[in-house]
Amino acid sequence: MSIAVITSDHLIELAYMAAAVCFVVGIKMLGKVRTANRGNNLAALGMAIAIAATSLFLLVHERWDTDTLRYLPAALLVGSVAGYLLASRVPMTAMPEFVAFFNGLGGAASMCVALAEVPKLARQNDGFFEKTADLFGAGGPRTLADIGVDFAIADSLSILIGAVTFSGSMIAYAKLAGKVKGSRWGPLGETWMNVVLVLVCIGLAIWGGFFAQQTHHLWIANGGLVLASLVLGLGLTLPIGGADMPVAIALLNSYSGIAGMTTGFVLRNNLLIVAGSLVGASGIILTQVMCKAMNRSLKNVLLGVMGDTAVGKEEGYVGVKSSGAEELAPVLAAARSVIIVPGYGMAVAQAQHKVRELDNVLTKLGCDVRYAIHPVAGRMPGHMNILLAEADVPYEKLKELDAINAEFANADVALVLGANDVCNPAAEVQGSPIYGMPVLEVWNARTVIVVKRSLGSGYAGIKNPLFERTNTQMLFADAKKALEELVAAVKAQ
Ligand code: NDP
Repeated sequence: MSIAVITSDHLIELAYMAAAVCFVVGIKMLGKVRTANRGNNLAALGMAIAIAATSLFLLVHERWDTDTLRYLPAALLVGSVAGYLLASRVPMTAMPEFVAFFNGLGGAASMCVALAEVPKLARQNDGFFEKTADLFGAGGPRTLADIGVDFAIADSLSILIGAVTFSGSMIAYAKLAGKVKGSRWGPLGETWMNVVLVLVCIGLAIWGGFFAQQTHHLWIANGGLVLASLVLGLGLTLPIGGADMPVAIALLNSYSGIAGMTTGFVLRNNLLIVAGSLVGASGIILTQVMCKAMNRSLKNVLLGVMGDTAVGKEEGYVGVKSSGAEELAPVLAAARSVIIVPGYGMAVAQAQHKVRELDNVLTKLGCDVRYAIHPVAGRMPGHMNILLAEADVPYEKLKELDAINAEFANADVALVLGANDVCNPAAEVQGSPIYGMPVLEVWNARTVIVVKRSLGSGYAGIKNPLFERTNTQMLFADAKKALEELVAAVKAQ
């Protein structure tokens, strides 16, 4: 009878499996506002388990040299502290550029790991890589079969996708943070240039992965691949303008997952393959959802051929009516049905708690209060849901675009709070930069109250004819201040 012996390797595999389960369940829980926080914590626990198991693996096998083991605690400490400080200080409104920045670091990590493994592709040792010497031993030249075709493919893909993700994400970050403007740098950003770069990358990846035999050729092929891929990442992201950037970020997020997955094949690490696939697949699903929400074609996003949007300010409005809180309070107090449309301005003003207060006051008066949530309202997917959940707005009151649009016709008031693009009727006009984007049809309500500080444009930088409609009343003020005044005025009715 044989007795099963549990070795450290078994424990590591079990830990990897537990981490993978945490990631899968965590991602599932992120899909609902109620469970999102716990889902996030569960996924973080999975990551902690994965790091502990990988550290144990290194300690047991000393797969890397002892120097690396010595640096491991310092690397973990620096990474954890930096991540904690950055994440806890970033304002919610800067979250998209922050996500873009982190995606970029993920891509860079995959690229660096894959580059570190390049010496293993050598078939003839000309002494360029010190590390290669260990691989040859007394065995002499090796064949592609010794190296593994899967390894050769995965290593080149990791470098390519990792580098594209890194430079593309950094440009996305810089554009969102307003540090880079414009959509072309010479020929860079032109579609023909992207096609040329893709072909160069494929050529270098095939040369590096399959044909380069000597180590200095490997260096030239992979160094060239890094450069060409970095430039390709710039070229794909540069032309993407204003309103299309959220889709690009979702796509870059997916790329960072795919780069992680291919690195998993390079290191033959199952957990990295699982985690990378999860990020890659969920990122591409999110990209599709956002493409649908903004009526963009996934093909154009992939090829970087989306147009830049014009940035306009307060352009030629006529017939705009504006009122103060005192004048609008009777309309709200008499309303039986109010649909609140939150947007980026509500986030900037941090007005979510005041929204809840107004909701309470109106509900006490017998009014049915609901919230219309556009998929890209704010500056990141789920932005409005998170803020409203923070203010304890019941989840059942939040209605998605498809469910609420028909309801505006029966609503007494549509109260637009710092939203602009997501309720712009120009989306129905051919030739408009946002033509075809599904929008909240607030103008069908009996009265539309738009709270914002001026007639300034939203993210897409275009005029909003909603402000000129006969049933629209503008309330020019900061969203939080306007809500404070509205709550007081409605209570006084
Ligand atoms: P918009 O950016 O279209 O409009 C926001 C409006 O809020 C502005 O017109 C601004 O007008 C107003 N505003 C700003 N600060 C305040 C304040 N303190 N009080 C009151 N109003 C304020 O926002 P939407 O939510 O309607 O649309 C989101 C846009 O962002 C879309 O174009 C979307 O594609 C894009 N986007 C979405 C992302 C996502 O994932 N959700 C990510 C990145 C971009 P004023 O200055 O006059 O006050």
